[in-house]
Amino acid sequence: MLRIEGRIVNHDADFQGSLEIDTGTGLILNVGPSTGHSDVDTTGCIIFPGFGDLHVHAREDVTGLQNYKEDFTTLATAAIHGGVTHVADMPNNVVAPVDDARYSAKEHLTTASPVHITLYGGIGPGTTPLARHVPYKAFMGPSVGDLFFASQEQLKKAIANYRGQNVSFHCEDPEILNAHRGAATHEARRPAAAEMTATEFALHLIEKYELVGKLCHYSTRDGLKKVIAAKKRGVNVTCEVTPHHLFFDDSMLTEDNRLWLQMNPPLRSPEDRLEMIAALQRGDIDYIATDHAPHTIAEKLQGVSGVPHLDTYGAFATWLMAEHNFTPQEIARVCAHNPGKWVREFLSSGNGNGYGNGYGSIAPGYLGSLTIIDLTKPYKVTRETILTKCGWSPFEGFTFPGCVRHTVLRGKVYTR
Ligand SMILES: [Zn+2]
Repeated sequence: MLRIEGRIVNHDADFQGSLEIDTGTGLILNVGPSTGHSDVDTTGCIIFPGFGDLHVHAREDVTGLQNYKEDFTTLATAAIHGGVTHVADMPNNVVAPVDDARYSAKEHLTTASPVHITLYGGIGPGTTPLARHVPYKAFMGPSVGDLFFASQEQLKKAIANYRGQNVSFHCEDPEILNAHRGAATHEARRPAAAEMTATEFALHLIEKYELVGKLCHYSTRDGLKKVIAAKKRGVNVTCEVTPHHLFFDDSMLTEDNRLWLQMNPPLRSPEDRLEMIAALQRGDIDYIATDHAPHTIAEKLQGVSGVPHLDTYGAFATWLMAEHNFTPQEIARVCAHNPGKWVREFLSSGNGNGYGNGYGSIAPGYLGSLTIIDLTKPYKVTRETILTKCGWSPFEGFTFPGCVRHTVLRGKVYTR
């Protein structure tokens, strides 16, 4: 039995108390008043339900060809450092998980990871749903790998096979990207209009085929208006935002950082960035999902898109609290509760039972996975402190106001 006391914060509660985790089952047994005994030092800390990142690229697949960037073991190490207790991994692998056999083969690679990994199935031209209930990802614009569509018509034909399924969309219209491919900068080659058009089309598909829809790494304020309007009329859609679209904008780009801060979709305007922060706080954006993309330093210098984030997930949450007045309950909502709700339906369809009520709340019957954040100890990000295999961070040199003190995975405590 593991007993932890301190300030406990759920999306709907903030109190001094204690909790007990059965270290055999990994589930929370009791939550109650303080008793004066804690197995873990939580002085100056907030005890959150375990954070979940619904958008990572671990890069490992059955070929192992991209294990030089990251694998499921190094991904878990970086996740624990960042206070992330479960992740969902994208399917754009060399051997993409687009059918039952390939999905199971990839899932087999994840079993040694102490951090729970949910796998997305891929949707590409001509694919059909798996026998298992899994989430899917559709890439609209060109990305890493072969899983993308050249046109809206081609995408629509594929999505018609997935009626009623859980589908996440990368919203950048391939035809608009193609029309801008000669522009001077990465940002100009992938304009906001591409996200706007792709958003309208994704919302149309979600409505028409009754999907459980999610829009990935949202970045533009005009597109977001469409998402908010769709939610209002009852479309079943939720929305992610990345730390980089909340922290950086195109006014901060210099010749020195331009390659490091290249990703898809690209950095947007300061107005877009501030609206993403406000929308996340209001609840119009549902999740902080990182799009963790562990490209090597050599690849970044050659212009590969994407940035790694898992190491800094929890520290980033302290920046939102200190800089943008997010309450701890708001952090619990976007980092733990909403990701927990999203992943719940997939937990028991995979590696069997034992997940109880899953992730997202500190309450009896939920998993004893916690993110314990120290608000009194700043974290200066340096290359030496980063555990992702790719070995760098877009936040190098920046000091976050707080850090992750302990990450608890099903009753097992990891302290750094
Ligand atoms: Zn991604």
